[in-house]
Amino acid sequence: MTIREELDERLKFYRSMGVRYLNCVSGEGSDLCGGTESLDELREKVLECTACPLHKTRTKVVFGDGNTNAQLMFVGEAPGRDEDLQGEPFVGKAGQLLTKIIEAIDLQRKDVYIGNIIKCRPPENRDPALEEIQACRGFIEKQIDIINPKVIVTLGAHASRSLLEMDLPISKLRGRFRDYKNIPLMPTFHPAYLLRNPAGKREVWADMQKVRDRLRES
Ligand code: SF4
Repeated sequence: MTIREELDERLKFYRSMGVRYLNCVSGEGSDLCGGTESLDELREKVLECTACPLHKTRTKVVFGDGNTNAQLMFVGEAPGRDEDLQGEPFVGKAGQLLTKIIEAIDLQRKDVYIGNIIKCRPPENRDPALEEIQACRGFIEKQIDIINPKVIVTLGAHASRSLLEMDLPISKLRGRFRDYKNIPLMPTFHPAYLLRNPAGKREVWADMQKVRDRLRES
């Protein structure tokens, strides 16, 4: 895909979300990060955040967890019920499957960093609203800036579309590296999708082999 085609896809994405104009600054949530330079400072800001209505229904904020010097970072969509209760990302059945995916490329969970686009659980696990993504987006951007991984893997359509700002189905996005601020980003299926559709594991394995190869090259 050429740069022009990627730009067209991003503009299509914004139009599909009802956006009529753009200004040239990062996500609204980046204002919330202020001059934050460390993950600990950022965690403090996120834990007390009330920038969108999800703060009213959360049990715990799910900031993210893992190796702060990770070469590989996973970005999911939003906390589910188990994560909301425990305050940790990917702790339910989908989390167990993610651990197996990580181990399949000869890494341990403690080697990687795992975060979400949205830090508070949407009620009944509904899809996050555009304004919630906009409000929270600066936090994951800042986490990525601080951790500065060699490779990012986005899990599922929402995380992939949000970071890439492209309105394509995950089946079209996955399978090849995209660019996120000069970091190679591999979109792939969400582990929760794989629990419902085990046949998708073959595609995820193909994606993760590319990730493993890229990490070895770097
Ligand atoms: Fe703040 Fe994000 Fe939670 Fe909304 S979802 S209250 S923006 S931390």
